[in-house]
Amino acid sequence: MSKRTYNFSPGPAALPVEILEQIRDELLDWKDCGYSVMESSHRDSKFIETAEEAEQNLRDIMSIPSNYKVLFCAGGASFQFAAIPLNFSGKNKNADYFCTGIWSEKAAKEAQRYCNVNIVAKTDSAQFMGIARKEQWQLSKEAAYVFYTPNETVSGIRFPTVPETHGVPLVADMTSCILQEDFDVNQFGLIFAGVQKNIAPAGMTIVIVRDDFMDQAMSFCPSLLNYKIIDEYKSMPNTPPTFSWYVANLTFQWVKKHGGVKAMEALSYKKSAKLYEVIDSTDFYSNKIHFKYRSVINVPFHLHDSTLDPLFIQEAEKNGIRQIKGHKSEGGMRASLYNGVNEEAVNALAEFMKAFEKRHG
Ligand SMILES: *Cc1c(COP(=O)(O)O)cnc(C)c1O
Repeated sequence: MSKRTYNFSPGPAALPVEILEQIRDELLDWKDCGYSVMESSHRDSKFIETAEEAEQNLRDIMSIPSNYKVLFCAGGASFQFAAIPLNFSGKNKNADYFCTGIWSEKAAKEAQRYCNVNIVAKTDSAQFMGIARKEQWQLSKEAAYVFYTPNETVSGIRFPTVPETHGVPLVADMTSCILQEDFDVNQFGLIFAGVQKNIAPAGMTIVIVRDDFMDQAMSFCPSLLNYKIIDEYKSMPNTPPTFSWYVANLTFQWVKKHGGVKAMEALSYKKSAKLYEVIDSTDFYSNKIHFKYRSVINVPFHLHDSTLDPLFIQEAEKNGIRQIKGHKSEGGMRASLYNGVNEEAVNALAEFMKAFEKRHG
């Protein structure tokens, strides 16, 4: 087998080797079918069994209460930017958005097509130093929901706590932090997450929605984005992304086996702290985000001299470190430390960063 590299991709992202090995082992003959899961009908009882198992495993690891539905929706996380206002702003056409980075800004922009969007708090796009203080938040008096992104994947900004919304349902885009930060589902009206960062191959989004918050869709909401309809068809109103669903189940089993979400969270703090320690110990590297708001998953950093960036990437490659380049909007580097990125990989990156500074600092 060829050598696996240290993969810091922002998404689609690294999956644990154990999961990839199981996929490989089952690829030609899944559940004694004599064919792979991706060649199975989604109506087949063996697939239904896997689909139901996935839901139960997710319920177990996230402690999802029974008054929440779990939906496995086709398409990427950005579909939910439209689905959310289409499903919830029917009665009350105001929605509150925290715009703390690229993803929440995109979500707010899409929602503006369907409802009145009120921006609760913003960050300076040139700065992204942190999230505005609570005293400055402008929540509307009557909003259908409050939307926020607990972990902004591109800029590496994170909400240190879940925002208080005084009874208004809270909607969270957990695409980059699901199963990696431990949340109490009861605090949310809806949680969604594209699976390609921390769960499975791209093409599916998981939606966890409180049932009393579900029956309010606008009349022109497309059926395939309507949560009530998706639920009625047990997430199969049309052919679902079966392979992603199958891998999602393997990931949920893997998280369970490795100590659950709490253990993943503890490891995330540990892994990210290692990199921030290297970054903060020198002027050679920098991360401009206030420590209180630093992501424990996506760690962006700049070299003091950006002309060294191509050399950094080139030498990193030679050391088996891949997909470390920052998002085009931010420049510099970004190390994404999802659950599939183990401590060994993070140690290798930390050591490489120190060695690179010695050579070129
Ligand atoms: C990656 C990401 C998205 C976009 O996901 P798509 O599946 O490409 O639509 C949305 N929100 C967050 C927080 C992300 O990290």
